Amino acid sequence: MAIQYPKVDAAAVFSEERLAAYATIVGKGEMEELYRLAEPLRGLKLQQINSARCGGGVAEMLQSLIPFERALGLDASWDVITGPSEFFIYTKTLHNFLQGKPRVPDLVGTKIYWDTNRANYKLVREDADVVLVHDPQPAGLIKFVPEEVRERQKWLWRCHIHLSHEYHFVLDFMRTLIEEYDLAIFSSGKFLPPWGVPPTVILPYIDPLSDKNKELPPEQVREICWEYGLERLDKKPLLLLVSRFDPFKGHAYAIEAFKQVRKEITCQLLMVGGTASDDPENEAIFAQLQEQVKDLPDVRLLNLPPDSHIEINAFQRAASVILQPSIKEGFGLTVSEGMWKEKPVIGGDVGGIPGQITDGYNGFLVSPSEKGIDEMAQRIKYLLLNPYFAREMGKRGKQAVKERFLITRGIRDELRLLQKVLELRRGFPTLA
Ligand code: UDP
Repeated sequence: MAIQYPKVDAAAVFSEERLAAYATIVGKGEMEELYRLAEPLRGLKLQQINSARCGGGVAEMLQSLIPFERALGLDASWDVITGPSEFFIYTKTLHNFLQGKPRVPDLVGTKIYWDTNRANYKLVREDADVVLVHDPQPAGLIKFVPEEVRERQKWLWRCHIHLSHEYHFVLDFMRTLIEEYDLAIFSSGKFLPPWGVPPTVILPYIDPLSDKNKELPPEQVREICWEYGLERLDKKPLLLLVSRFDPFKGHAYAIEAFKQVRKEITCQLLMVGGTASDDPENEAIFAQLQEQVKDLPDVRLLNLPPDSHIEINAFQRAASVILQPSIKEGFGLTVSEGMWKEKPVIGGDVGGIPGQITDGYNGFLVSPSEKGIDEMAQRIKYLLLNPYFAREMGKRGKQAVKERFLITRGIRDELRLLQKVLELRRGFPTLA
């Protein structure tokens, strides 16, 4: 059965009230800085292009970024490429390859990649001043821009994935393509490849006022947990993993750690995932995991529609410990989402996660391998047995997110970058 993807209002603009609400969280000074930075960019035609309107971290960020930038006076727009399922199978192989999974991308797929990008070229706004393309799927659009249009525009590529440097020949495919861009943006200084394109770093962010992260009344949290069949949280504390069903998210490690913990402490594990229209692996990995947990008591797997933001918010608020034992991770918005809700998060020590978690202070880091299973089990037990420590760790987590991983900081970085790229400011973007 075809999945129904929810409609996202691509023309939304945040209201004055919404902007004022951000000021109550980050302070008036921070908002004034955004107004000041946006002033010379008023009316700038900024087009962002990715491959999914809903599902996954990039869509999550764009859903808030675009209406925010419009409210600041930019003529920001958001388009999504479409293609046949073979295109997304190919680009997911490419994505996995770039993250270091050894499987050779085939030539037929390469042809579908170019055909799909060519067919999508009509999406590109020829009147755009800046085109910001996200991830490998639509990166090929740049090849089809007529020269006279390309000369007037700046093209930026933003890479959200954990670039692994193990497979240089695949990186070469991306390298030659990305070198046509004016600038490439990465989520961590660790991923910068030695390519002939100026690099910069902008850290991702979460929106504290989105359905995913806004405050929820405790009764609503309890109701949602009850509706999805979770047991009483005071009887069985909840361990939670929220992630697409993807080979790099560490679901199997979470299950193994849970089995160890449950031998000693009563608890329940919930793993929530969902589909993204550009990720074809979901169903197969979900089925594998179902098989793996079918005889395990106190484990629930939920495959939710991609707009289940309130439900995920509720589960994150209900959890005693949040797990994100990724094996590769571009950033891991789920880590910041959990920390924002004052939860201790245990994350894989990989990619963008250590940029968010200071081990032992505002969360825990564990090895992104089988070695991490025992480490994770030990830390879960410690947190369940020491709720005061867990609460304090959670508070420090929220503070870290407030200082570094909210949307206002993300927009500030993007506005500054736009000013520099358009040469409204002197100097070239420096690494964050
Ligand atoms: N997410 C969701 N539903 C799911 C799984 C994930 O809404 O079933 C959200 C999650 O809350 C987060 C984003 O998708 O906001 C995932 O971003 P992250 O950077 O953690 O991982 P990505 O999917 O981009 O690799």
